[in-house]
Amino acid sequence: MKNIDNCPFCSLGNRVIKENKFANLFLSNPRKVPGHFLVTPKRHIEKPWEMTVQEAQAVFELVLFVQKRLVKHISKGSDVLQHYRPFMKQDHIKVNHIHYHILPRDFNDKIYQVVEKYETEDFFEELTATESDEMAAILL
Ligand SMILES: [Zn+2]
Repeated sequence: MKNIDNCPFCSLGNRVIKENKFANLFLSNPRKVPGHFLVTPKRHIEKPWEMTVQEAQAVFELVLFVQKRLVKHISKGSDVLQHYRPFMKQDHIKVNHIHYHILPRDFNDKIYQVVEKYETEDFFEELTATESDEMAAILL
């Protein structure tokens, strides 16, 4: 279900910092850390795979641009994230219009301290041959 009328990413106004023909770059508000950027296709799209090749190219042009700038000016590393979670209701934090998060990352940073330090090695499991075959089969 489209929700263009209430979509904050369809009416960014002066929040846009940089743009190209098919995508916008702007700061997340609210944000997790300073330098938390978002990139969206200009067209309201909720499923990432519904972007055209031109839109995907335009989005990743801005994603890679800001990632490079973050590493040059703010942090040693960065994360790029995209969440597709139609099972969650849209609110002021969760927006259905596709967006890619670009976050500055450093050793022991706020994101590590608040979230990731609780992801211990126990979270990871060895990949089995059966699981590998099952997951490969969904690609056929
Ligand atoms: Zn939208």
